[in-house]
Amino acid sequence: MMNCKEATRAIEKKAEGKLSFWQRVQLNVHLVMCKPCWRFKAHWNIISLFLEKTPAKHKLSNSDKNLILNKIDDEI
Ligand SMILES: [Zn+2]
Repeated sequence: MMNCKEATRAIEKKAEGKLSFWQRVQLNVHLVMCKPCWRFKAHWNIISLFLEKTPAKHKLSNSDKNLILNKIDDEI
């Protein structure tokens, strides 16, 4: 079964359309059983909607995003 770290990564990948059918099934099984990840997904959806409306000049570059994600991974 997918763990919470894998589930949060899958939620991010799903938003980018990079999740396979099997990964989506595994994610949905995890979300049914894990309320914190379900909440993360709900918050992620809200943040994604907000970011879609943010002008490009205020968005982070991919390298900055990866730096943040790596820092989070180090802290978890
Ligand atoms: Zn979880």
